[in-house]
Amino acid sequence: MFNTKETEVVVIGAGPVGMMSALVLNRLGIKVLIIDGAERVATRSNATLLHPSSLELFHNLGLLERIMQTAFKIENIEIHNGHLQNRNLKLSQLKSPFPFLASLPQTSLEIILERELEREGIPILWNYKAIDCIESDNTIEIEAQHYSEQSIGYAVSRMERMIDRSLRIRAKYAIAADGHNSLMRKRIGLDLLQGTPIKYFLMFDIKSSGSSKNIMRLNFDQGLASAHFPLSNQVNRFMFQFKGMNLPEDYRTKSRDPLQGFFEPIHLLDEANLRSLFSQYIPWDACDIERILWRVAVPFEQKFATNMTSSRCTLLGDAARTFEPLSAASLNLGLQEALEVCTVLSQNIDSRSLNEKLNTLADSFALNWQIRYQAERYSTTNQYTDDWVASNRNKIISSLPASGVELEQLAKQLSINIEIPPPAPIHTNRMVDFTSTSTLKGEHQNHVT
Ligand SMILES: Cc1cc2nc3c(=O)[nH]c(=O)nc-3n(C[C@H](O)[C@H](O)[C@H](O)COP(=O)(O)OP(=O)(O)OC[C@H]3O[C@@H](n4cnc5c(N)ncnc54)[C@H](O)[C@@H]3O)c2cc1C
Repeated sequence: MFNTKETEVVVIGAGPVGMMSALVLNRLGIKVLIIDGAERVATRSNATLLHPSSLELFHNLGLLERIMQTAFKIENIEIHNGHLQNRNLKLSQLKSPFPFLASLPQTSLEIILERELEREGIPILWNYKAIDCIESDNTIEIEAQHYSEQSIGYAVSRMERMIDRSLRIRAKYAIAADGHNSLMRKRIGLDLLQGTPIKYFLMFDIKSSGSSKNIMRLNFDQGLASAHFPLSNQVNRFMFQFKGMNLPEDYRTKSRDPLQGFFEPIHLLDEANLRSLFSQYIPWDACDIERILWRVAVPFEQKFATNMTSSRCTLLGDAARTFEPLSAASLNLGLQEALEVCTVLSQNIDSRSLNEKLNTLADSFALNWQIRYQAERYSTTNQYTDDWVASNRNKIISSLPASGVELEQLAKQLSINIEIPPPAPIHTNRMVDFTSTSTLKGEHQNHVT
């Protein structure tokens, strides 16, 4: 027996992109429902940098102040060629109202978004996993299963997640923000293409006794990229690309465990290897290690959907494409694209031209993604460009933590010209006033029929 809920838009996946989508749709007067198969928000730092254009977006949503209460400001980016510092990029030179990066654990950002959704009467339906969908001309039906934790076993009891009921959600439209291994993408029959080969990274969040500097350091050495930046006054994130060992795809999992448990591959993630990475790649940048707060080895596939939309569903965020991690582009472009898609959706939800408009938007996103996969094709150098920068510009551009015109401005500081493709005619970012929409609060409670 199914319970049925009806809504205008159903969002599948309550990662940052799904939550942003639900928030924007609600503010724009669309009745929205959001489900997630997991039991709570992420418990790890994962993607940690917010770009200037994402900060502007959060400012427009009235959430920037809350973010900055937790975040650490980064104002400079140093680019290193092995042991030599090559360039210092100044974020203060960006023509942005927020010319800096905000660094905060993804779990903190997710908690802020979840609380805001709750405040606006849109609680996330945790433990509801979408398992199937049926699209028709004007509606989409999502079938979801609800999980609950039950104690099983007699002599030694343990908690296990069991399905205890089902839910059918009937909506005019669905947003699939269910992450890089998206089940919705498979159900609606959209494929991902490989952009560039998979890259592997080791990540460490380290507590040290010294104070953090407001600098992000990117290093390109022996064909491998690494990054170091602060997360708070005494916690720093280090990321090292590595080669020579392939990791299975399921190593990219979003943890909900309160405690960090077993980690693999142990020999790459132990303190001895961390110290050796410091001395090999960044002897000038190592910090004292008081405690390793988090460590993980992650494969980053670089894949993208050639088509983001089916008749009644759009892919967003990691479900649509993934990038390598240093730039935090997966997160930031996901947030910005969610705003654009949801704006178009809210204005055209009953229009026959909805799909055409979403497809135009998707085309402009795809061009932006290509800049990250193939910087050489979309950029030029000039007589002032340093030779080393010119020959490494693919790696450098795909690691810069900025998007849109701000990426263009940062690259200019390196004497690289990026040809940003013109936005689609219906590009709506920054033109929407969300502030009056809190009056909608409470009007869009979803109901069980
Ligand atoms: C260990 C780790 C480290 C990372 N580090 C970086 C980094 O340094 N830089 C960077 O740019 N990115 C990083 N990422 C990626 C980054 O976390 C994502 O880009 C970001 O979370 C945005 O993703 P999203 O909202 O699209 O999807 P996600 O955050 O993956 O959220 C998808 C949500 O959908 C839910 N879901 C999945 N299937 C279903 C279903 N069938 N039904 C209902 N719900 C479902 C999941 O439970 C999840 O909550 C990292 C990821 C991991 C796992």
